Parts: sequence; C-alpha cells; structure tokens
Amino acid sequence: MSKIHVTDTILRDAHQSLLATRMRTEDMLPICDKLDKVGYWSLECWGGATFDACVRFLKEDPWERLRKLRAALPNTRLQMLLRGQNLLGYRHYSDDVVKAFVAKAAVNGIDVFRIFDAMNDVRNLRVAIEAVKAAGKHAQGTIAYTTSPVHTIEAFVAQAKQMEAMGCDSVAIKDMAGLLTPYATGELVKALKAEQSLPVFIHSHDTAGLAAMCQLKAIENGAEHIDTAISSFAWGTSHPGTESMVAALKGSEFDTGLNLELLQEIGLYFYAVRKKYHQFESEFTAVDTRVQVNQVPGGMISNLANQLKEQGALNRMSEVLAEIPRVRHDLGYPPLVTPTSQIVGTQAFFNVLAGERYKTITNEVKLYLQGGYGKAPGAVDEQLRRQAIGSEDVIDVRPADLLKPEMTKLRGEIGALAKSEEDVLTYAMFPDIGRKFLEEREAGTLAPEVLLPIPEAGGVTSAGGEGVPTEFVIDVHGETYRVDITGVGVKAEGKRHFYLSIDGMPEEVVFEPLNEFVGGGSSKRKQATAPGHVSTTMPGNIVDVLVKEGDTVKAGQAVLITEAMKMETEVQSAIAGKVTAIHVAKGDRVNPGEILIEIEG
Ligand code: MN
Repeated sequence: MSKIHVTDTILRDAHQSLLATRMRTEDMLPICDKLDKVGYWSLECWGGATFDACVRFLKEDPWERLRKLRAALPNTRLQMLLRGQNLLGYRHYSDDVVKAFVAKAAVNGIDVFRIFDAMNDVRNLRVAIEAVKAAGKHAQGTIAYTTSPVHTIEAFVAQAKQMEAMGCDSVAIKDMAGLLTPYATGELVKALKAEQSLPVFIHSHDTAGLAAMCQLKAIENGAEHIDTAISSFAWGTSHPGTESMVAALKGSEFDTGLNLELLQEIGLYFYAVRKKYHQFESEFTAVDTRVQVNQVPGGMISNLANQLKEQGALNRMSEVLAEIPRVRHDLGYPPLVTPTSQIVGTQAFFNVLAGERYKTITNEVKLYLQGGYGKAPGAVDEQLRRQAIGSEDVIDVRPADLLKPEMTKLRGEIGALAKSEEDVLTYAMFPDIGRKFLEEREAGTLAPEVLLPIPEAGGVTSAGGEGVPTEFVIDVHGETYRVDITGVGVKAEGKRHFYLSIDGMPEEVVFEPLNEFVGGGSSKRKQATAPGHVSTTMPGNIVDVLVKEGDTVKAGQAVLITEAMKMETEVQSAIAGKVTAIHVAKGDRVNPGEILIEIEG
C-alpha cells in the first residue's frame, strides 16, 4: 500500500508566499504541540527569507527560533531550504563557510536539507550535500523547475541522476513559480521514477491554480511526498491546502493517514494568526494565471511591485513583465529563483526604464555572464557578454573553487559582537543587517517592527491590541512630540485612515501601507545641468564613492556604485577632468537627476 507523506510549509514557505515572511516565533510555538502530533513527514521551518526577516524586521535570533522549534517539535523532522553554495545569502561562499553553516544548522535542529542551485548547476550543490551527509542528516537534491527550449525531461532526469550519484537521499521538484501543469508533472515524475531510485518530493506553488492537480498526477506516477500548507495559509502563491489533499487522498491507495480533525484545529489557529499580519498581505497572493505566459513567480511579482512602487514606476509593471522573458533568453534561460529572479527582474526593469536595453548593466548581470554563478542552462548572448565583461576571462570552473577560506576573516571582522559561531554565520549571511542586529542586541535596543491593530469589519477599531505599542515619543531637531494612535479605519482604495493625537490634538491622516509604498524622500541636492554633473537614472542608495575631491578622472571611469532593487550598478563620469565637489556619502538615498559629484573638464 502506497502511502503519501506530507511536508507542511506553514512555518516557512506559506507565510513567505503570503505575508512577506513575517510570522513570529511567538505565533508558532503555541501550536507546536498539535503540529507535532499530526505525523507529518517533516515541517519546513527555515530558509533564506525566514532568516533574513528574523534579523531585519522581527529582531529575533533565527538560531534561537530554530532551537525553540526543535524543543517544541521533538517528534517531527525539521526541514530547511538551502541555496547550495549561496547558503542563505546572495553570493557564493567559500567551502569552509558552507561546511560550518550546515554543521551548525544540523546541531541546532535541522534534519532535512533541501538544497538547490538557481542555475541547476550541480557543482554548486556538492559541498553542501557532503556537509549534510557528514552531519548524518537527510540531503535532498533539488530540481529548480522551469520551462525553456533547453529544459527537457531528459535534462532534468540527468540532473537527478547526478544528484543521486553525489549521495542525495531524495529528489525534489521545486516549482517555485507554479509553472507545472498536471500532465507535464506526470511525465516528469514517471521519467524520474523510471531512471533513478530516490524518493520524489513535489513542491508546487498554486499560483496558476494548478498545484493540487499537479500533485495528484505526480502521486499517480509514483511521487511519494507532497508539500502542502495548512488551509488558512494555502493556495494562490502558496501551496495546496493540507486538509484538502488529505481529504482528496483519504481511503485511496494513496491515503496520507493524517487526522483531518486535528488538522482543522490547526487550520483555525492559523486563521487567527493570519489576521494579525494583515498589513503584510499583498494584492498579488491570489491565483494569477499570467505566470503560465510570462513565467514570473508570484513572489517575484509582489517583490517587483513593491520595488516599482518605491521607484514611483508601478505603471511600468506590464512592460517589465514582458521584458523579463527576453532578458532570460539573453542569459541562457536561468530558472527564476533567488538570486536569479532578482538579477533578471532588476535588469529587465533597468532595460524598460532606461528606454534602451542594456544601457545600464548591473554588476550582478556582469558576474552572471562571466560565469560567476555557475554554468547557464543554455547559451548566453555572446554579444551581450562581450559588451558586459569586455576582454575579461570567463570563469568555467565551479565559482567557489576561486574562493579562499573565509571563516577566520569573518570571525575577525565581527569580533566580540559574536558570542557564538552561529553569530559569525549570521553576520556571514547578511553582513549589514546581521552586524546591525548583533550591535542592537549588544546595546539592548532590539525593537521589532510595529504590527498594526486588526481592523474590525465596517468601522474604526480601537488601537492597541495586545502587545501593540500605540504611543510614541518623537524627537524632531531637539523638539519632543507625543503621538498616540487612537484608531485605525478600514482600508479603502488601497489607503487606510489613521486617527492620531499629536500632543493631545486630534488628527486624521490617510496612508498607503509602508510595505506597499515607500516614498523616494526629498533631498536638497540640485538638478544636474552640465556634462560634468554625475547623476543616476534610478533612485537608489550609494554603496560606495570611488573618488575624492581633487582626484583626476577619465571619461567613462566609474566614480560611484549605487544600489537599487538589491542590485548594484557603477555610475561613470561622462567627461575627463578633476573632481571639484562630492555631494554624497556611503548609505545616502539619491534620486534621479540630482548632482552627486561635480567634475570640471
Ligand atoms: Mn517555494
């Protein structure tokens, strides 16, 4: 009797797909007793985005979360998603960091490591797989599913066989975008079962409304494992509902054996939890069949939408969605998953906004075209490659082969702020926000972002739900104001009314949520008018200033590095001359057209 095993994604991918990964540990622990009794094969609970959100927004130590979940779930395997040689970050780490990270994740509670590479370049999986096996844990090799002329069933089967030979215990089909269709799933699983011997897991997002059908066809063709989400966090850009799949298979040869009543209690619990995080619900979490045309994953659409809003360019969304497949073609059809989704998405945005394709090429696209992320699945556009990297060499070895050991250097950099090897790894994964987190912890000033009160239907809620601060003292240029949030209205046309009192005077203000709109801010910089005025075409942040006053520069020389939408670009001087003024420093926010550096020819 074949039995289907269930992995619930409620503690990781479900809230990552629906709530910008904001669920806090305090909302996980009370239900762990019940989760632990279900009999799940595993609970997915950790990954790059959960780690990032803990450190960046929730001010929780992600390692501490893992230890608490481990203690609260003694009978259930804990699973994490690992980006191969990128671990939880966006760059390739040296092998000693990969080994140290996997060893610590295992010691702190992870049993199952789902390991993927954004290029499906298995060379980038090898060290992580070996480290998982050395820790005595379950190594799952992952096929990042996508469609293109080079992504054939034969190619995916060949990849699975390579991962099997590398020592993997299972293979996962990771359909992060919801691109799978039922019959394509059936064919792929059938071929995998015929040509390799590992159990097959199916992870499919319901973005196009097809995931449950895909899972059924996978099961009928021999897949043993499905990823689901408890129903109150299911469907749309998340996964098929756990209770629905359990009910669908009940009494058949594929019965999961899970208790529907217990699952429904858990579903009700998370129904209330989801409301608590209403401010993070994006408008892009429902079924959107466009993915079957433009291949852009739901998570990427909502990210792009947020970033386009930040740049004040949300009206260019359709053009960007149309440009993404063209950039993907030029780059040899990478699957769209972290970090390639961001690399392709941002370059597409630059191509649209600049009005000329590849007028600006991000540093990440240059690195990609150089082979810095591994081998592209298909052929890259050679003309574009030459334009991007000039006469520099193309890397054809595994990128991490070029990296020296880093752990000693990282320990030295973070110094006494790190109280453990785990802290060093937090810093390694996220150098800026990781350091900030450790500094705030040291100073005792860690403060999680504020959750808004849950609005009542049809009226104004009283502010100040449990544990929600509603009184603030604000210092402005040495003057102190006391602000009380006295009420929150319902959201209408994307905007919400707030009722405040400032120093006792009532005020009503209307806002779009911060997580949907962040203004560019104002600045006092003048507008560029001369060729020697260095400015950017994109709003962004200054990562580095490469020149100082008095320096002599050549025409075309890079003078600034800016960051927009998580990607870096170099800004060049248009003329040769002498640097006479610098109006920016590292970390500044800048807007298009502002004079950032003045150069006299
Ligand atoms: Mn996923």
